[in-house]
Amino acid sequence: MKTVTIVGAGVAGMSAALRLLERGFHVTLYEQDEFVGGMLHSYWDEVTRTRREHSYHMFPNFYFNFWTIAEQIGIKNNFTPREAFRFLRGDELDRLPAMFNPSGPQDFLRNMDSEAAPAPDLFIYMYSMIDMLAEPEHQHDLLDKYSVNGFLHSRPYMTRTAADLHQTLWETVWAISSYQASAKSYRTFVKYTNRYSVPEFFLLAGNKWEYLMEPWLKTLESFNEPGKEKRFELMPLHRLSKVLPNEKRTKIAKLEFDIVNRSPSVNDSWKTTDTKEVDVSHDSVILAVTPGAIKRLLTDEFYDAAPHLGEVQYLEAEPMGALQLYLNCHIAKLPKDVTDFEGAKYYMTFLDYTQLWRDIRHDTPAGQKPNTFLYVTCSDVVSLLSVPAEKRHPKGHKHEYELILDLDHPTTAIEYVLREVMQHLPVELKDIDLRKTAFDMNTGEELFANMVGSWERRPDTETPLENLWMAGTYVKNLMDVSTIEGAVISGLNAAEAIRARRAPRAEPIAVLEPESFPPELFQALKLAWAPLAASAKLWSEANTTMGRYGSGWEEMQRKFIKAAVKALQPFMGRKPNPPQYLGPINWTNSVRNLPKGHPLATGPIYWNYDDKGFRKHKGDGKKVYGEKS
Ligand SMILES: Cc1cc2nc3c(=O)[nH]c(=O)nc-3n(C[C@H](O)[C@H](O)[C@H](O)COP(=O)(O)OP(=O)(O)OC[C@H]3O[C@@H](n4cnc5c(N)ncnc54)[C@H](O)[C@@H]3O)c2cc1C
Repeated sequence: MKTVTIVGAGVAGMSAALRLLERGFHVTLYEQDEFVGGMLHSYWDEVTRTRREHSYHMFPNFYFNFWTIAEQIGIKNNFTPREAFRFLRGDELDRLPAMFNPSGPQDFLRNMDSEAAPAPDLFIYMYSMIDMLAEPEHQHDLLDKYSVNGFLHSRPYMTRTAADLHQTLWETVWAISSYQASAKSYRTFVKYTNRYSVPEFFLLAGNKWEYLMEPWLKTLESFNEPGKEKRFELMPLHRLSKVLPNEKRTKIAKLEFDIVNRSPSVNDSWKTTDTKEVDVSHDSVILAVTPGAIKRLLTDEFYDAAPHLGEVQYLEAEPMGALQLYLNCHIAKLPKDVTDFEGAKYYMTFLDYTQLWRDIRHDTPAGQKPNTFLYVTCSDVVSLLSVPAEKRHPKGHKHEYELILDLDHPTTAIEYVLREVMQHLPVELKDIDLRKTAFDMNTGEELFANMVGSWERRPDTETPLENLWMAGTYVKNLMDVSTIEGAVISGLNAAEAIRARRAPRAEPIAVLEPESFPPELFQALKLAWAPLAASAKLWSEANTTMGRYGSGWEEMQRKFIKAAVKALQPFMGRKPNPPQYLGPINWTNSVRNLPKGHPLATGPIYWNYDDKGFRKHKGDGKKVYGEKS
């Protein structure tokens, strides 16, 4: 019997489990929490009487490996597309400048007219992406030694406003500053988003349990047939505490688990109730836990067996704050896009779930506007780590489990964050649902950060131990940036390594690499547009000087941009406000080196969407993945 032990039921562990079960392996999946999903978790919390998640997640177009799984587990219709990032300046909800699909060329003109930043700086922002994409692949090891900000400011055309725009988008999305983030990682992300930029990303239209993790878990459980030995087993509340190699240090012999009473990722007060030793000497083992967990597990005998894992100590992870803000009223005019609180402390964005989650809309009585429910993500909460996340009244109090809030004399992270939110949105203390509103920072299980120089330190899938493989978004993989797709690919890489070793005749596990445009194209564009970049720089400098002489100069520019955009529009082929995106995304043509017989290699799949989400269309009459022939 081919058995695999996977520790960590995040996206990486779940992806590996799925592909190995398909190839006949028996899989035991250990997880410290009561629920699966890792950073994509969603669980029912009795205290707040809500489903709690750690913020919203964006699923870009080019997550081919994730979308393949999404299709297989039947959740493709659970997503809704988004094209814009918006910026909220002060409390000006009437005026929300936007960047549309900011990584790609299609909305270039539309963005110039968007007022997200002055036009010359927006041009420089986009030109600097071309410049980054013009860097040849063989320079990547060098690029990993530069920060994004270092790369940008080494360019003679760069302006501070354009560099700040990169910083805002990077910091709010990946929780690290552009002066710390690796230019190589940024380039990798931009090269894929640039190629598949419309729509830039999708959002889950419901909670992550029902819309994502439950169907995924059910698919794994479907490999258990009645009356037969179980092929898949989930072991929740098992926290790996020790990795014990054999005497010769050639393989992992045993894993030791603490049996815990509550989910450690979301409860500081968890306790060990028992311990359990599992013999894995005949198993293949995948460690799909966080880098923080690996640091804790690196005892002297484990380090002795796999010394290169010691490099994990260099890797850094960042906490992120997520405020789940339930109101007792409806706020009108909120955008339905991810929106940046421009200039706010803690690098904050928000998303209105009232307009996103289908269930919320359905529950609202006819004619009544639903009470607003927002998610606010705080990408930089390091300064809040020394204060408690939140305080609640104790059990038995007349306001049992309600938040204790004193916004004039804040002592908790949620109070500081709420004060910031209230400067931008029309929310008062009396509007807040004190029971359901909650704040957490993923301390202990932080997100791996693509810091400068981290690539070389990241572990490979393979280890010197003959039965141990590594998975998790921080393990080296083609996606590089710490993302859902990176986690999926790392899981597939580990599963494929095990398949190749232990079931060489089983079908290979495909990892799909999205295409990207060649650097030569961007080198040509960079040269051709260099005079424009120089002019934009001069224009931006003029703005700094002339801006002092009142708003007439600004108004004149706005008129000029509007006229220029109008004149150029017919040549850009894309209308300024397309009612809907109407595909097709031809995945088959966009994916290289698909193994023969892979589902996506059998014919193009066309995706159209309307207000209700995705509708699938068969492309050329051939069999489409997931359909019965
Ligand atoms: C707030 C936030 C927003 C994000 N937004 C996006 C986004 O918009 N788009 C995007 O692509 N990515 C986003 N990410 C990143 C993405 O969520 C992660 O890269 C991905 O989920 C990581 O998956 P993983 O399987 O590698 O790790 P994890 O999800 O961390 O899974 C590791 C699992 O191991 C378990 N574990 C840890 N230690 C032990 C132990 N000792 N014993 C047993 N189990 C253990 C953990 O409980 C967890 O379930 C975001 C992350 C955060 C935190």
